[in-house]
Amino acid sequence: AAAELGRQAVAMLAQVRDVVVEHEDELGKLDAIAGDGDHGIGMRRGVDAAAAAGEAASGSSVARILLAAGEAWSERAGGTSGALWGSAVIAAGQALGNRETYSANDARAAVSAFVLAITELGKAEPGDKTMVDALLPFRDAFLTELDGGAPVDRALAAAAAAAELAAAQTAELRPLKGRARPLAEKSLGHPDPGAVSFGLIATRISHHIDS
Ligand code: ADP
Ligand code: MG
Ligand code: MG
Repeated sequence: AAAELGRQAVAMLAQVRDVVVEHEDELGKLDAIAGDGDHGIGMRRGVDAAAAAGEAASGSSVARILLAAGEAWSERAGGTSGALWGSAVIAAGQALGNRETYSANDARAAVSAFVLAITELGKAEPGDKTMVDALLPFRDAFLTELDGGAPVDRALAAAAAAAELAAAQTAELRPLKGRARPLAEKSLGHPDPGAVSFGLIATRISHHIDS
């Protein structure tokens, strides 16, 4: 079917929007502990804009849909996480190009590009208590499952579980990057908001992926 992968991307953006809307207050409260409290509203603005822009571009290639969505996400979210998510969504789209279906290798390339965009732009290291602490275990679990012959949907489910676990484990870390750093002691015992939102989004996508 024409633009099949684009259609899936638009559907996925709607899922991302829905899960963020459901958790907006929780994410804001988590960010208020040691950050500036805007992770819920920022993510909400970003995903609303991204889902709308993706839908407006529907019928085009997955790369164009995710370019429109990522640009809208960065612009409208404001904040560090919006810029990171926007660039990652664009990079995943570029990896998929104008494909209409994807192979396990395409999924591998898209996930790798998504993570690389965030580490290159944000330059956080593992243990800095950022979303990177959920992203790297996510990517590693995804690639390991695919290497073991798992289909994409199963690999994604395992990767999402790894991301949620890793996000919860950031509670033990002191933030070394981002706005939470000056209030590092307050943050101890609470997970990083960006890691938590990533885990929630990964899990939602894993429940809705067609493969
Ligand atoms: P802001 O910090 O600008 O208010 P948000 O509250 O939306 O933006 O997002 C905060 C989240 O961004 C943090 O919880 C962390 O996961 C993530 N973050 C902050 N700085 C970085 C970075 N340099 N690299 C990766 N993630 C980061
Ligand atoms: Mg914030
Ligand atoms: Mg902010």
